Parts: sequence; structure tokens; C-alpha cells
Amino acid sequence: MELHGTSSVNERGVLEIGGCTVDDLAATYGTPLILYDVEQIRERIRAYRKSLLSFQVPYVLAYASKAFSCKAMCRLANEEAMWLDVVSGGELHTALAADFPPERIYMHGNNKSSDELEYAIMSGIHHIVIDNFDEIDRLVEILRKRNTSMRVVLRITPGVDAHTHEFITTGTQDSKFGFDLFSGQADEAASLVLKQEHLILIGLHMHIGSQIFEADGFHIASERMAQLYSRIKVNCDTLEWFNMGGGLGIRYTKEDRLPPLEQAVKGLIEGAKRAFERVGLALPKLMIEPGRSIVAEAGTTIYRVGSRKSVPNVRDYIAIDGGMTDNPRLALYGAVYEACIANRMFDESKQTVSVAGKCCESGDMILWDALLPEPHPGDLLAVSCTGAYNYSMASNYNRLPRPAVVFVERGEARLVIRRETYSDVCSLDL
Ligand SMILES: *Cc1c(COP(=O)(O)O)cnc(C)c1O
Repeated sequence: MELHGTSSVNERGVLEIGGCTVDDLAATYGTPLILYDVEQIRERIRAYRKSLLSFQVPYVLAYASKAFSCKAMCRLANEEAMWLDVVSGGELHTALAADFPPERIYMHGNNKSSDELEYAIMSGIHHIVIDNFDEIDRLVEILRKRNTSMRVVLRITPGVDAHTHEFITTGTQDSKFGFDLFSGQADEAASLVLKQEHLILIGLHMHIGSQIFEADGFHIASERMAQLYSRIKVNCDTLEWFNMGGGLGIRYTKEDRLPPLEQAVKGLIEGAKRAFERVGLALPKLMIEPGRSIVAEAGTTIYRVGSRKSVPNVRDYIAIDGGMTDNPRLALYGAVYEACIANRMFDESKQTVSVAGKCCESGDMILWDALLPEPHPGDLLAVSCTGAYNYSMASNYNRLPRPAVVFVERGEARLVIRRETYSDVCSLDL
């Protein structure tokens, strides 16, 4: 396993993160345990900010909170002066409960309910990203009733294949998200919105996928967005923002080859700048809303090794005390991770083992064929890069309590989500 962020190995051969020793943390908080290297999150945010600053246009750097949403994470994003992208009433509620300023929140979602829209409007969030025609009607109805207006951004589907896994590609024409560009829906949506006195159109949005490695998709999409922007701008003085979405990839394994974040972000914005120049416009104000690339590498999940099973001439399995309940990404779309035995980092990796979860589901796997030191029951298995779309996708399948989450920074550990108990698991049952 590659060491990320502030990770290091102490003289006992034990993994340390944020200056805290992993075996001590496991003893204190139990396993499975999700650790966040806070310093690393701050560094990623700074890398984004540095690239954005170099273009000298007003910008918004938002955290796509669905990657990992909890009050502590919202507070951290606020400390770093980020904005917040929420996609549901629940994420909005979490942000507000963490005293995140509503004027730096905006809302996404392809099927926001009237209740969610109303909640967003009454909370005073900055804007709503409209996804479809029905939402325009729903929104106008609420605004009319409340006799107020709302800033809006239109989510456009620019029809670009971002070269990522099919399940996490959102910008192609055949997508459940956004207004289709090719069939004229995007232009139609803009003229509809412009006719509504309760809606103030301030920008256009795209999000072309996730775990994207290549800039080409962004460049092509930006060209199309710039053309649309210039058509709409003629009739709309309030249009001033271009939201490029999120989606930048991270290194889950040594095989993932990526430029440094700062350089990647610069490349994307330079592409957008060229696209807008081509239609005779200066680069608009920019919004960018990464999720994964802010938190994924900062997260490490610590499991306790339990049982072993060897299928002669086929495969060696080890089972850990979590699984698809805390990390469903392998089961969902074949995600690949790296791992290590965190309490024996000096031991040579010489056994190929597959790591299974403890759920009653054959697809409940965390790693296939990982090279590790021979694992023993009681060892601590650390899986890296679990900071995004792990806890946020966690479930109680088999009625497993969800793990605890601890922030580590400069030698201090802080419990930010406590481990669920059996009574939590039953807490909603009547
Ligand atoms: C999920 C999502 C993001 C964040 O994507 P990452 O791949 O995690 O950076 C940004 N914008 C929208 C609209 C999203 O749905």
C-alpha cells in the first residue's frame, strides 16, 4: 500500500496517520474504524484554491458533500472557506446543523421534492441548480406562493463521455441528469426560466462524470457549454457563472497515473478559458465542486482480521469485521483498493489473499488478490483511499452497526461520528 498524506510507519512497524498510531486508535475506538487525515484534506483544498486563484476571476470552490457528509466535515469545509453542494434535504440539514452559512450552500438533485425545494428556499441558500422541466414548474409554484425569488443555475448535459466507469459517467446524452444540449432542451429551459419573474438565472452547470483521468472530456464539454452560454447571455444580464462540476480522479492504486492536482485543475480551467475566447467572451466567474478528490485519499479504513479460508489451488480468503456495509464500491462497480497489515508494516508481502466482508452476500468483497504479509486473526488490515463514497454509502445490511469515524491531525484524534450500537440499529423499529 502506498502511504498517503501524513501517513508514516513508526519504529514498531505500525502505521501512523496524522501523528496517531493505528493500533492505539483501534484499541480506543474499536474496528471497523474510518480515519480521516485532516491535514491532507486541507492540502487538497489549498491545491484547488491555488489553481483557481491563478486565473484571476471570481470563483467558488464548493465541496460536493455527498462524498462524505457529516457535521464535522461541514465544519471543516467552512473553516477552509469552501462553499457546499448538497443534493438532498438531509445533506442540507446536516450542513445547517453544523452552522454552515446558508449563503454559501447550493442545491443539486434530479428529483428534488417540493419539501426539499421549500426547505432550501426558506433556509436562504444561495441558489438552486435546476435539473429538469418539472422542477421549473415546482420551483415557480413555491416561489409564487411565498412571493419571493430565487437564483438558479441550469444543469446541462453536454453529451460527453468522460472515459470513466459506465456507472459513474453522468455527462453523456443518455443520462438521467440535466437538460440535454443536442436536442435543444437546454436553450428551451433557459428561455423558459428567463420568462419567470421569480427565477434569476445566474449560471450554467455541467458535471461530466467522476474519477476522470483525462482532460479531453472537460475540454469538449467546455466548448459546448461556452457556445450555449454565449447564446443565452445575449438575453440575460444576470448570467455570470460557469460551474464545471467535479469529477477529478484520484490514485486508488499505483496503477492510477495522474498529474498533480494543481496541474490538473489548471488544465481544465485553461481549456474553459480557450473555449470562451473562441466565442468571443472572457472566462466567466467559475464554480468548481469536487467531492472525491477532496476527501478520498484522506480516508483509511481499519478492520480487524477474523477468519481465514483457503480453497486449495484456487484462492486464499481472509474475512474482516466490516465489508460492503461500510464500503460497497467493489460490489457496486468493481472498485480496486490497496491494503496493508497496519500492525506489521515491516513484514514482507508474500501471500496473495482476497479480502472478504462479513455480510451474507458473495459479492461482499473489499479486495481481490492483494499481496500482503501472511495475515493472522487479530491483525489490523488498513485499506487506503476510503474517504469518498464509503461512509456516505454505508448501510446496515445484516443489521451491522455502522463504524465510527475519527479525524486525526497533528497527533490528536477526535471522534466525529460515534459507532452505532445495537440499540441504534433498532432505533426506528416500532
Ligand atoms: C457527485 C457530484 C460531484 C462530485 O463528484 P466527484 O467525482 O466526487 O468530484 C459534483 N457535482 C455533482 C453535480 C455531482 O453529482
